[in-house]
Amino acid sequence: MHRSHNCGELSESNLNQEVTLAGWVQKIRNKGFIAWVDLRDRYGITQLVFDETRTPKAVFKKSTGIGREDVIQVKGLVIERESKNLNIPSGGIEILVSELSILNHSETPPFTIENETDGGDELRMKYRYLDLRRNKVKENLILRHRVSMIVRNFLSQADFIDIETPYLIKSTPEGARDFIVPSRMNNGQFYALPQSPQTFKQLLMVGGFDKYFQIVKCFRDEDLRADRQPEFTQIDCEMSFVEQKDVLSLFEELIQHLFQEIKGIKLNEFPRISYAKAMEKYGSDKPDIRFGMTFGKLNEIAKGKGFNVFDSQELIIGIAVPGGANYTRKEIDNWIDWVKRPQVGAKGLIWVRCNEDGSYKSSVDNFFNQQDLAEWSKKTNAHAGDLIFVMAGDSQNAQTQLSALRIEIAEQMGLRKSNEYAGLWVTDFPLLAWDEDSKRYHAMHHPFTAPKNEHLDWLTSTPEKVLANAYDLVLNGNEIGGGSIRIHDTQLQEQMFSLLGFTKKQAKDQFGFLMNAFQYGAPPHGGIALGLDRLVALLGGSETIKDFIAFPKNNNGRDVMIDAPSKVSDDNLEELYLKSLPKKSS
Ligand code: ASP
Repeated sequence: MHRSHNCGELSESNLNQEVTLAGWVQKIRNKGFIAWVDLRDRYGITQLVFDETRTPKAVFKKSTGIGREDVIQVKGLVIERESKNLNIPSGGIEILVSELSILNHSETPPFTIENETDGGDELRMKYRYLDLRRNKVKENLILRHRVSMIVRNFLSQADFIDIETPYLIKSTPEGARDFIVPSRMNNGQFYALPQSPQTFKQLLMVGGFDKYFQIVKCFRDEDLRADRQPEFTQIDCEMSFVEQKDVLSLFEELIQHLFQEIKGIKLNEFPRISYAKAMEKYGSDKPDIRFGMTFGKLNEIAKGKGFNVFDSQELIIGIAVPGGANYTRKEIDNWIDWVKRPQVGAKGLIWVRCNEDGSYKSSVDNFFNQQDLAEWSKKTNAHAGDLIFVMAGDSQNAQTQLSALRIEIAEQMGLRKSNEYAGLWVTDFPLLAWDEDSKRYHAMHHPFTAPKNEHLDWLTSTPEKVLANAYDLVLNGNEIGGGSIRIHDTQLQEQMFSLLGFTKKQAKDQFGFLMNAFQYGAPPHGGIALGLDRLVALLGGSETIKDFIAFPKNNNGRDVMIDAPSKVSDDNLEELYLKSLPKKSS
């Protein structure tokens, strides 16, 4: 028997028991005649004592040979500790060791296995198996397990069936590049790894499964942005005979249930706002609604007053910074510099101080009188003591830039509290987005998303005006999920492909299987996918998804531990018919 107990469960109630423990050596405090060793396993830490007078001589001698991270097994007596550690359950006892076996020696680890480690990111990634021994990382993975169990139970109880879909498939577009896998058995042919199980889950609805879910890996070959992973996990769901409101209410309930179970927090009902409103009020389709500072549109009252910068612009918007009237000029200038950085890219900012006495002082006093500025303050909901920042530009840029400013100010003012959560649904996205480079429409969600019924006629006349039956779930400014009601009619699906620039043949080659299936009684259906990595990170009070993935890739998409991706042998290439591919000349 390797162990009778684990390292987290012994307490005063076990005094005088003979126990066997096994684990890793966390720490050794050696006074020569007596040594204490912290023994660690997944469950906790128990202190061992080796004492010249009380421990058998041979065992005491052997104990001098153990080092950090060695794997040992001990037998001994549970005794009361002299100086108790009240922070851990086993802190009142220690084990007076009578037998010791060293099961395996460890090299000195490249960083300390402590909560506050001295190891940098890259080093910890390279030795991820050691990083996993650290409490923080361990707790994150246990949290992930709990979340996924709660999700499974919730969905299973709601009659969803967990069905696996294949990984070696044909492209399923979600707006990214596919990872491609060459087929050895089919000369010159390739599989794609799924960007999502989208088409398969729709086929499951045609197959009559009515409610499906899967916690599933998805693969997207995107240029990596910070905290994006090329492979990530989705809670993927699909339902038949539903409308948008059915999907939203069920998944809102799931998120609320998760927060209740994991954090004991009761979330408020999620407001539902349209994409257009979200852009107008927050300049973002994933707004953080934990704080105000919503946008006020100033076009009507700020144009035509002789201030050229405004007159020539499409959109003039402002936000009120609570208590900002007492920012010094230097502080205001810092914010102006902040928005001018290339990452934000604004040309500048106009400001208005709303003084306590009801007067205004602004950077544009030459053009706007007190009356004008009072109007601005009304539109931006500013109060005496606030500061108004105004951004002007073409609609998209002005909105994105002011949104970035809004978030950063809130961050610095401590308004984005990590223990406060607010969810919302963003609905009514445009169906299509025009891409100037390729001169064609792209599906804003994906090509299987249904247009709003009342907009069907516009598909031929003014496609850019068509809104989709699509929705995103946003939590604290993070998009944690999205989905849509789907097209379930062959003709409409064909029309959609043609709008997206597919020829009939291309559509048939790529998605013939789906359109065929739609001819055999496809039920109306819709669904959603939630990003598990981000959801767990948010529940863990962090925004870094890497910390919640057992073996993540770095920002270049590399696994530095196993050193992947890597070259393969010429033989391999030959087998896969890739050897003779002409080299691109540079
Ligand atoms: N397949 C979609 C995605 O991965 C989600 C959905 O529409 O259900 O974003």
